[in-house]
Amino acid sequence: MMTLDRNAMMDRLREEVLWDVCIIGGGATGLGIAFEAASSGLTTLLIERDDFAKGTSSRSTKLLHGGVRYLEQGKIALVKEALRERDRVLHNAAGHVQSQGFVIPVKRRWRQVYYGLGLLCYDLLSGRRKWGRTTALNAAELRLKFPKVADQGAIAGLRYSDGKFDDVGLALSLAKASAAQGAVLVNHCAVTSLNKTTGQITGVTVHDDIAGETMDINAKVVINACGPFGDSVCRMDDPQHENRLQPSQGIHLVFDGDVMPGDDAVLIPKTDDGRVLFAVPWMGKVLIGTTDTALDEVTAEPTAREDEIDFVLDHANRHLGLGLKRADIRSVFAGLRPLIKGRRDETADLSRSHEVSMSPSGLVNVRGGKWTTYRKMAEDTLAFLLRKKALSFTPADTRYSRIVEGPLPDRLSLPTEEKALRAAVTKAVSQEMCITVEDFLARRFRTLFLDARLAIASAPQVATMLSEAHGFSAEWAQNEASQFQKLAQRYLPQERKSGYLE
Ligand SMILES: Cc1cc2nc3c(=O)[nH]c(=O)nc-3n(C[C@H](O)[C@H](O)[C@H](O)COP(=O)(O)OP(=O)(O)OC[C@H]3O[C@@H](n4cnc5c(N)ncnc54)[C@H](O)[C@@H]3O)c2cc1C
Repeated sequence: MMTLDRNAMMDRLREEVLWDVCIIGGGATGLGIAFEAASSGLTTLLIERDDFAKGTSSRSTKLLHGGVRYLEQGKIALVKEALRERDRVLHNAAGHVQSQGFVIPVKRRWRQVYYGLGLLCYDLLSGRRKWGRTTALNAAELRLKFPKVADQGAIAGLRYSDGKFDDVGLALSLAKASAAQGAVLVNHCAVTSLNKTTGQITGVTVHDDIAGETMDINAKVVINACGPFGDSVCRMDDPQHENRLQPSQGIHLVFDGDVMPGDDAVLIPKTDDGRVLFAVPWMGKVLIGTTDTALDEVTAEPTAREDEIDFVLDHANRHLGLGLKRADIRSVFAGLRPLIKGRRDETADLSRSHEVSMSPSGLVNVRGGKWTTYRKMAEDTLAFLLRKKALSFTPADTRYSRIVEGPLPDRLSLPTEEKALRAAVTKAVSQEMCITVEDFLARRFRTLFLDARLAIASAPQVATMLSEAHGFSAEWAQNEASQFQKLAQRYLPQERKSGYLE
């Protein structure tokens, strides 16, 4: 597997006179397109203003799924497509994917029949049953698996299987696989404007945060793959652009694994706002979420609101009987769904499907979608370029293209011993374009998401090691550590005025 060497990438970025494709945004959407384009023989450049998967793509519920709840809304085609793509990710990136059992507890017998029929349909749509059979659980079986859930009045349940994956792991593997196909990918480099000749986009201006350098880049096609931030790039194209996206925030709370022992996840099918709530075992912890809060503005650092934290805690305690308190929260993280605006105001009803379009000046916008369907979004984007005669090429068939060969190295826990930590830092810098403390503690390891206090405590040591690996000053290390510690406070619930973290 190719390594990611930022200096070599920057050299190639300066050398190339005209790129076929310049992709803005290094999340699931952009990285998927980079792999598709480079595999199709196009000279491909991807520019990410922060770090790969810094945006929504590191903040998912970690599910590779068709979306059971969309069946209830009759979105059969959406579910079928996602189930097909779920199987493809398993085939192409098996090392990042595993089968996950989900239990749906029910308090009424008819609900078991109702959800059972839905899951039968889900199994039928997924074709071959690669992931495991759906089974009904009687009261005793449910109690054995989740005694506290049974104590909350659940009388039976259903158990089905779906996919769980490592979102950041897959993002980094996609970056490496794209590089192996010849793509150039650069992080910590922002697109600051779109360049035009006679009204048509001919390239972009980028600012490299590391060298402090600004450069003009020429490209035949510029693709806006900025997820929830996409409207800001559209405004670089047309200052009068009206938002096409309705960002919706979803949060997750992370707890120690022993609060919900066992391998199965739980799906609560109806919360007070009509959504589903997941409690999923993840990297030795339990992830509980999520919410759906419509936002007027997007920021690079979405932060969980107090009412969202209360909502998730309240539902977890009410339905799962976990007796959780704010002080038990190890980390809380928020992400922004790039939902395409619909006619209804409720974001839970807005489309999870994707769309590809082109502005009059030639900017290609890829919107919506979800992690599970990243490959299909990329395939559709390239097909769109062909249809629009924006480029001429033979598209690669990536349905069976391997992204990684499993099994993958264990990134579960941050090394505690100095020598091992230094080796991990050196490797992340030389092979995975890790620059900042956040890159390392949030995405090369998931410490910030798993245990924010541990991340805060580790920051000074990691900053020093990073500065040595990069040849940066001691002052840089000090600044980096304190900036990261400030950021990490956002991953901890705030103190309550009435008492500490009640
Ligand atoms: C709470 C939550 C849970 C979810 N759970 C799941 C799940 O379990 N399964 C699933 O399949 N999907 C899930 N999703 C959906 C999925 O995570 C997203 O659809 C997907 O990650 C979006 O990827 P993206 O690349 O479009 O956006 P992002 O990941 O946000 O990437 C956009 C990138 O563009 C960059 N950028 C912005 N402006 C510029 C600029 N000017 N120059 C350069 N770069 C720029 C940003 O830094 C960012 O990295 C979930 C979403 C949320 C919010």
